[in-house]
Amino acid sequence: MPSSTKYIFVTGGVTSSLGKGIIAASLAKLLQARGYSVTIQKLDPYINVDPGTLNPYEHGECFVTDDGAETDLDLGHYERFLNVSTSQANNVTTGRIYQYVINKEREGAYLGKTVQVIPHITDEIKRRIKLLGNTGKYDIVITEIGGTVGDIESLPYVEAVRQLKWEPNFDCIVLHLTLVPYLAASGELKTKPTQHSVKQLLESGVQPDILALRTEHKLTEGVKEKVALFCNIAPKAVIQAIDANTIYDVPNLMKAEGLDTIVLDKLSLPYKENPTLTAWNEVLSKIKNPTHKTTIGLVGKYIELKDSYKSIAEALIHAGAQNDTKVTIKWIHSEAITNENSAEKLSNLDGILVAPGFGERGIEGKISTIKFARENNIPFFGICLGMQAAVIEFARNVLNHTDAHSTEMDANTTNPVIYLMEEQRTVTEKGGTMRLGAYPCSILENSNVFEAYVEKNISERHRHRYEFNNKYKEEFEAAGMKATGINPDNNLVEIVEIENHPWFVGVQFHPEYKSTVINPHPLFVNFIKASTLVTEQKMQTASN
Ligand code: GLN
Repeated sequence: MPSSTKYIFVTGGVTSSLGKGIIAASLAKLLQARGYSVTIQKLDPYINVDPGTLNPYEHGECFVTDDGAETDLDLGHYERFLNVSTSQANNVTTGRIYQYVINKEREGAYLGKTVQVIPHITDEIKRRIKLLGNTGKYDIVITEIGGTVGDIESLPYVEAVRQLKWEPNFDCIVLHLTLVPYLAASGELKTKPTQHSVKQLLESGVQPDILALRTEHKLTEGVKEKVALFCNIAPKAVIQAIDANTIYDVPNLMKAEGLDTIVLDKLSLPYKENPTLTAWNEVLSKIKNPTHKTTIGLVGKYIELKDSYKSIAEALIHAGAQNDTKVTIKWIHSEAITNENSAEKLSNLDGILVAPGFGERGIEGKISTIKFARENNIPFFGICLGMQAAVIEFARNVLNHTDAHSTEMDANTTNPVIYLMEEQRTVTEKGGTMRLGAYPCSILENSNVFEAYVEKNISERHRHRYEFNNKYKEEFEAAGMKATGINPDNNLVEIVEIENHPWFVGVQFHPEYKSTVINPHPLFVNFIKASTLVTEQKMQTASN
């Protein structure tokens, strides 16, 4: 068991979207490969208690952990890189911090004191930061602070870091990620934004220990030395974070920059093993050198912001690598599909994935898409609402229940094939009240899913309120849609499949959350395998 946990804070400057999460995950990967146990935590400065209530357009996908936390999508990167599960403690928001402090105030826990940002809010931030370290499970905790230094919302977090840097027996360093923009007109890399952003940190009393500079062009030693001089940092601790072709290259790029050894030197930790990243690089080489290709249509209603489907897109990459296949995603807006245009819009696809979602908008397009996939033997993968839409489509077009629907979209349908779970009927609060997190599922042999998992008992993560209505189960099964995965504790249908179809699988859970670089998800792997076969059959027909 680690004797005392060391902490690395990752802050960002100049602009958002610099990829702090990827840098943090890459550093964690290298330290893990050296033999350290590492976890990553994200502190989000918004007032929502968690991102579960956020529209995906606002903040991208909501990632769900085994213990049912609705979290920031960066936790998905952490799990995909580290192959280790995260939990509720790995994501904290300002809303959660304030909620906790205000609840304590109402209980009278502050004994008449004035409750203030300093020390009460900062104390609570520090307590949350230390929670993971105090489990005794980790040698190193990397804490990523969301937002950009200088934001009003980030101030209490930066203040908490300042206080921790001065706390006896608390070993920590600060890695600050900034941008070095390239001015094409003058052909120059400019360091001023970085200087300003470090000044901003210094104004808050925090001297960064390491600077990572995001750049489109290779940085000269001169640029690094200049930054080092102006920012009170040794030139060796100024590294470049150059744009990568794939995020999975970043650990190698960080290794080449020596980020892991710089960190270990600063934390006075031994280097241990050389991080060869052998298994990781085998996957990376498959991603870079595919021998097959396939085109998947991803049908959803939030496609304007691709981050809304981050874990699905990454799971397709992992599954592609496993099949030596380059997966091209065609992003299709569900509102754009009708029964009339489905052939024109979808027939060039080798596989179709209908995405999760909420509410009425775009649902008819999803149903038309599924009809097309079912009738034309195109491999189909429906996730959560995608599975529910497959059930509705089958009820309407095969069982002839023409008004079949989910009560989420039509509360008065006479055929509620998808309806509200019993436990959800009295729920009125929206935040954190869905069926969330990992639940067991028993799988029938002789199914596509058994072929994929090669296991009868699995566990997958959920995030939904509605479910398959068991009243219709026999009727569905008699007509060819089988429930091949059932929750053993309460009989909920978790998986449906259609017989006599090359690959038609709908799952009530979210397999995408569990796909990692080293462990691609078996359902995604088999979906891509089936789709690649379609591509190859098409090519053969074309060449004959
Ligand atoms: N809206 C559906 C439900 O709540 C599906 C949710 C989802 O796709 N994550 O059951």
